[in-house]
Amino acid sequence: MTEKNTEIWSQIKNGNFGKLIAGPCAVESYTQLEKTAAFLKEKGVQLLRAGAYKPRTSPESFQGLGREGIKIIQDICRRYSLFSVTEIMDVRELEYMEEKIDILQVGSRNMHNYSLLKELGKTEKTILLKRGLMSTLEEFICAADYIRTEGNHRVIMCERGIRTFETVTRNTLDISCIALLKLQTDLPVVSDLSHSLGRKDIMLPVAKASLAAGADMLMLEVHPNPSAALSDAKQQLNLEEFNAFYEGGNFDARI
Ligand code: PEP
Ligand code: MN
Repeated sequence: MTEKNTEIWSQIKNGNFGKLIAGPCAVESYTQLEKTAAFLKEKGVQLLRAGAYKPRTSPESFQGLGREGIKIIQDICRRYSLFSVTEIMDVRELEYMEEKIDILQVGSRNMHNYSLLKELGKTEKTILLKRGLMSTLEEFICAADYIRTEGNHRVIMCERGIRTFETVTRNTLDISCIALLKLQTDLPVVSDLSHSLGRKDIMLPVAKASLAAGADMLMLEVHPNPSAALSDAKQQLNLEEFNAFYEGGNFDARI
C-alpha cells in the first residue's frame, strides 16, 4: 500500500495521469459505474471519480451507497485498471476506505473540519482538498497546512467555485485563485468544472481558461444517463457530450 500511495503521488506530480478526473457524481449501482468506467477507460482517462458518501443539502436526498459504494468503486477500478477518487465525509470511515481507495477527497463542506484534516495528515494518501464554499484563499491554504503539518504533504488543491451574488452558475469559479495557488504553493491544482458551473454549455471554454490560468487537471461529472441521476442531474455530461468536450479540448492523454 505504501508503494502504491507513493506511486500515485509521483504520477500526479509528474502529470502522468493526463488532464482529466471524471466520473459520475455518485456511484448509484454496479452497472451505472461500470458503464461509465469502461467508456472513460477507453478514452484514456485514468482517474475515476464517484461519490459513495454524498453531502446533500437535504437529509431527504440520496445520501450515497456508503460502504457498498466503496466496494463497487474498488472492484471496478481494479478490473479496469483505473485509479479511484472518492469523498471521505467522516473520520470513522478512514480505516475502511484507506485500503480500498486511491485518492481521498475532502468536500467543500468539510474543508474546515480540522479533526478530519489532521487524521488525513497522518496517512500516506493523496488528498484532493476542495475549497470551502465560503472560504478565502488564505483559509484554503491553511486547510492544506492542517494536513501537511501532520506529515502528509500529498495534497491536491481543488477550486470548485465560491458563493457570490451571481446565480447564472451554481457557484462562481475563481480563476484568479487557480493562478494564485500556483504562485503561492507547490501543490497540484484541479479545477472542478461541474460543481462550479452547475451547467454544461460553457464547460469547454471554462476548461480552457482554467488550464490557461495554470490548473494541472480538470474534474467533471459524467453519467451514462444524467436525467435519471440521483444527484446533480443537471450538470453531468452524458457520454456523447463528454466526447464533444474531450475532442474539443484535445484532452486525450495518449496523443
Ligand atoms: C463532489 O465533488 O462530489 C461534491 C459534493 O462537491 P463539493 O464538495 O465541491 O460541493
Ligand atoms: Mn456532484
